[in-house]
Amino acid sequence: MASDQQQSGEMHPTRWGDPARAQALPDGARGMVELVFGVDDRPALDAAPLPPVAIDAAVLAELARAVGPANVRTDDETRRVRTRGKSTPDLLRARAGDLTDAPDAVVRPGSHDEVAAVLAIAVEHHLAVVPFGGGTAVTGGLVARRDGYAGVLSLDLVRMDRLVSVDHISMTAVLEPGLRGPEAEALLAAEGMTLGHYPQSWEFASIGGFAATRSSGQSSAGYGRFDALVVGLTVATPRGRIDLGTAPANAAGPDLRQLFLGSEGAFGVITAVTVRVRKLPEVKVYEGWRWPSFAAGAAAMRTLAQSGLLPTVLRLSDETESAINLADPAAIGAEASQACLMITGYEGEPAAVEAKRAAVTAVLAGLGGTGAGTAAGEKWAHGRFDAPYLRDSMLDAGVLVETLETATFWSNVTRLYDDVKAALTAALGEPSLVLCHISHVYETGCSLYFTVAAKEADDPLAQWRAAKAAASDAMIDAGATITHHHAVGTDHKPWFAREIGPLGVSVLRAVKADLDPTGVLNPGVMIP
Ligand SMILES: Cc1cc2nc3c(=O)[nH]c(=O)nc-3n(C[C@H](O)[C@H](O)[C@H](O)COP(=O)(O)OP(=O)(O)OC[C@H]3O[C@@H](n4cnc5c(N)ncnc54)[C@H](O)[C@@H]3O)c2cc1C
Repeated sequence: MASDQQQSGEMHPTRWGDPARAQALPDGARGMVELVFGVDDRPALDAAPLPPVAIDAAVLAELARAVGPANVRTDDETRRVRTRGKSTPDLLRARAGDLTDAPDAVVRPGSHDEVAAVLAIAVEHHLAVVPFGGGTAVTGGLVARRDGYAGVLSLDLVRMDRLVSVDHISMTAVLEPGLRGPEAEALLAAEGMTLGHYPQSWEFASIGGFAATRSSGQSSAGYGRFDALVVGLTVATPRGRIDLGTAPANAAGPDLRQLFLGSEGAFGVITAVTVRVRKLPEVKVYEGWRWPSFAAGAAAMRTLAQSGLLPTVLRLSDETESAINLADPAAIGAEASQACLMITGYEGEPAAVEAKRAAVTAVLAGLGGTGAGTAAGEKWAHGRFDAPYLRDSMLDAGVLVETLETATFWSNVTRLYDDVKAALTAALGEPSLVLCHISHVYETGCSLYFTVAAKEADDPLAQWRAAKAAASDAMIDAGATITHHHAVGTDHKPWFAREIGPLGVSVLRAVKADLDPTGVLNPGVMIP
C-alpha cells in the first residue's frame, strides 16, 4: 500500500539487469552495427503512466492483514518492475510505454502460510495471482489474463529467501523459492556446497522460477538441468498444501513432482525446493576448441555424451556465432574466423578435473578438434552473463535482438538447424543475422539455441511475432520441442498444444481444474 523505496537488486524497468550496468554499445560493436544494419537510435520511455489500481481498498486491507502492510504495494515503481518479463517483446512494449499488463498490487508473503492466506483471499475475491520470482521470464509467463478477474496480484516471493536446512550426509538442501541464483550459491558455499545451476539469467532468476520453468544452466552437462536437481517440493494450491519427494527414488505411482516442475504458477505456488547439491569445486578450468564446421563439433559433442565423458560445461557456436563472438561485446567485429568455437569447462577436485580433462582432450583431438587454450575459455567464463546487456544497447540502436531455443534427437539436429535458420532468415529479411549454439547435450540429443539480430521494422513487435511463428512452426514440423528450457508461458501455447496433442491438453486442464477450481493461478499461462 505504502510507496516504499525500491528493493535492492531489482532490475531496470525497461532493460535487462542492474540499472547501473546499462551501457552504450561498445565502439567496435557500434561500428559493425552501423555497417550491417545502420544505426537508428531509439530511446526508451522509462516513466510511462500505469493503469489505475483496480482492487478495492477493503481487499487490499485484507491482504495487508495477511502479509503485513509493508508487504502490499501499489506504488508505480513497484508495479512497473513487475510488469511482464524480459523477452524482447516485453522490453519493446515497456520501452514504448505500454504497461497495460501491470499488476494492481504487489504482495510479498514471507512464509508458506502467508502464501496460502493470499491464495484464499484471491479465491474469495476472484483475483488473478501471478507468482513472481526473479521476473526473468521470456515466454510471457508473467502475463496473466486480466479479463473476468477483479484484479491482478503479483505474488512476489522475494521475502522467502532462506536456506532452510542442509543434509551433509545425503547432500541435499532445502531452499526457499525467492532466493536468487547468487544468494543461493553464497548460502550453499558457506556449507561447502554448490548447486551448480548457472543459466544466463542466474544473477536475477530465483529458485522457485528455476523449478517452475524447468530451467537449464550453462553447466548442465556436469550438474544437470534444474528439474534433475530437484528431489522434493512443497506447493501451496487453492485446495491446500502438497509435499512431494520422500525418497531419492520411488515407484509410488507417477512422479507427481513432475506435475509441478514446469507448471509456471498455473497449478500452485512452489514454497520450498529440496535440491541435490555437490561439493564446492576446488578448481574450475575453461578452455576453447576450434572445429572446421558446426557439424564436426556437434558430432564430437555426441561422442562425448554417448561415452559418458561429459565435461561440466560443453557448448559449441556455429560459424556465424563464432565469428561474432558474443562473449566479448568489446571485441565484436575484431575476430573473424570461419572456425566454430567450442567451450569445455571442468569443475571439481583437482585430480578428477585433470583426469576428465585429459580423457576429453584425447577424444576431441582424435576427432579433429584444435585446442584454443584456456584464454578462450576464460574469456567466455568472464563474459557469460553480459550478453543480455548488449541486447539493450542493440535495441537502443534500432536493432531487434532476440533468442529462441528447441531440442531434438541427434539424428534430427541437422534438419532442425537448417529449417529453423531458414524460417528465421526468410521471415526477418535483409539485413539480419541468425546465430546458433548447442549448450545442453544428452546421450540422445541436444538443444539448439538461436540468436537473431535484424534491423527493426516500423513495427518491431509484429516483425518479431512473424519470425517467431515461422521458427516455431519449423520446430514442430521437424518433430522437435517448442522449448528446451524457456518454458511455455503464453507465447508458446499454440505450438505446445500441437506438441502434446488434444489428450495432453485435456490432462493439463483436468489437473488445473482440480487444484485451482476457480482459476485464480496465473490464468492463461502454460495451459493451451
Ligand atoms: C537474458 C536472459 C537469459 C536467460 N537464460 C536462461 C538460461 O540460460 N536457461 C534457462 O533455463 N532460462 C533462461 N532464461 C529464462 C528465465 O531466466 C528462466 O525461465 C528462469 O527459470 C525464470 O526464473 P525467475 O525466477 O526469473 O522466474 P519468473 O520470471 O519470476 O517466473 C517464471 C514463471 O514461473 C512462475 N513462477 C515463478 N516463481 C514461482 C514459484 N515459486 N511457484 C510457482 N510459479 C512460479 C511465474 O509465474 C512465471 O510463470 C533467460 C532469461 C533471460 C531474460
